[in-house]
Amino acid sequence: MKEFLAGTLGVLLLACTALRPTPAVAPRSVVAAPSAGVTIEPAAIARHVEVLASDAYEGRAPGTPGEEKTVQYLAQQFARFGARPANRGSWFQEVPLVEVLPAPQAVLHVTGKGNKKRDDLVLQADYVLLNPPAEERIRFDDSELLFAGCGIHAPAFGHDDYKGIDLTGKTVLLASEVPSRLREQPGAEPLTRVEARVDEAKRRGAVAVLFLLPPVSFMFGSSDESWAKFAEQFTEGPQFRLTTGPARPMPLQALLSVKALERVLAVGGKKLDDLVAGMEGPGFKPIPLGVRLSTDFEMRIRRFSSRNVVAVVPGSQRSDEYVLFVAHWDHLGRCKADQTGDAICNGAMDNASGVGGLLELARAFGQSKERTARSILFLVTTAEENALLGGKHFAANPVVPLGKIVGGLGLDVIALRGRGADVVLLGRGLSGMDAYVEDAAKKQGRALSPPTAQDYFERGDHFTFIERGVPILVATNVHALNTDAAGLGPGMVEEFLSQRYHRASDNYSSALRFDGAAEDIELAYRIGRALAQSTDWPEWLHGVPYKAARETSRQSP
Ligand SMILES: [Zn+2]
Repeated sequence: MKEFLAGTLGVLLLACTALRPTPAVAPRSVVAAPSAGVTIEPAAIARHVEVLASDAYEGRAPGTPGEEKTVQYLAQQFARFGARPANRGSWFQEVPLVEVLPAPQAVLHVTGKGNKKRDDLVLQADYVLLNPPAEERIRFDDSELLFAGCGIHAPAFGHDDYKGIDLTGKTVLLASEVPSRLREQPGAEPLTRVEARVDEAKRRGAVAVLFLLPPVSFMFGSSDESWAKFAEQFTEGPQFRLTTGPARPMPLQALLSVKALERVLAVGGKKLDDLVAGMEGPGFKPIPLGVRLSTDFEMRIRRFSSRNVVAVVPGSQRSDEYVLFVAHWDHLGRCKADQTGDAICNGAMDNASGVGGLLELARAFGQSKERTARSILFLVTTAEENALLGGKHFAANPVVPLGKIVGGLGLDVIALRGRGADVVLLGRGLSGMDAYVEDAAKKQGRALSPPTAQDYFERGDHFTFIERGVPILVATNVHALNTDAAGLGPGMVEEFLSQRYHRASDNYSSALRFDGAAEDIELAYRIGRALAQSTDWPEWLHGVPYKAARETSRQSP
């Protein structure tokens, strides 16, 4: 859920900066590939899900016995289907992680002028930690709190919330929104991201960054109870960080509930409305809030190495060019017991289903009579539930050059619909990948859905590649708006999100259906085969921000 809610924060930001590339006609250099007589069996996917989502795998949390079982199962299945280890003879890529657990009584002390007024913010009840730092002890004293609008420094786009202010030893409070005048400037988008704002505050010497959580009413309602539900889900499961992150410690990052923020402002005699009123104006300057923050708490740290699993079906002619399929194997492990007493988040849908589909793709390519010209690469990542860490580590340390990866697909939660649902392409209209998806869908007698659910575009391991210019998209029936042959519609997603997503109830059962999943995997097979038989390199369209990264990686394979 963290990645989902972080993504939500991101989405709320994104909603402000929706990408609107200039539409251009996609190149139609698609090579029509017969299906090569491959059938994807729903029961075969179901068998993988039944194994991976069984209690014996303990909810597949990184760094647990559940991980060991999972990665060994994956290696065995890949070998069984004729794939080969893809990391210099190994099925595994080590991913150095550190588990961080803040002390439960982590308190932020708030003091007003002359120490007259005071208040304490308690972890979980009043705030949650974003990207908890991998440090044994978090401590700062008497840090002056300033409101710095959106905390964006973008002079090239006519926007600067800081006006040259120095933040050494200070704490900034930031609004989550994106100023309207930046929304229309696509080039500004990267500067509006949470990470970029935190980096900017760090660059100016801040010791902490507090975000005002956008009202999450659309997900949880707007009461205290809503914050409690949000905070619980935001901190469920272990919290990991890559140990390959920036050397210099990051400022403490926290999301505050609306109520907690109102209490902080009250200590300084301020009101929320006073702050946001002038925030968008060109003359905006950071506002001292008349309060100081102090804290001193410990973090429990555990360093360990988790594993991405990598396999390849080598190509027959251009084997140093790759089509990539990626899915995450990790899930939340042991979680809060539900009313039935079930305390294992087995992650049948999320994401044993996607992994099961990916394994059946490996079988299809590995056992196909006609080997493709290019190679097929399979990546099964760890720690996706934690801000896509396994995907980020691979994209930063790829086992094959990113410039040699032609394109591909991500698979996450694939078994919610029946056959005959339209195909939703996340990232539609951005690249030459569209033609491959359209063509494969047509061969299945399916339509390409009008763009929907695009706020999922940035959420998932596929995006760790897109950020580096590699067109790895998601083609799925899950968000399709039409009613499928099984009479199921988009309501299936809401049902899953509200009843089973990241809960102990996401279990395997023989009642689950995999026919729609098998149809999507056959679609993925058709797309992958067409790409792997062609000499084409699907390009990002003009104006799409990932084009530059692609040109760089293509020049230096
Ligand atoms: Zn997932």
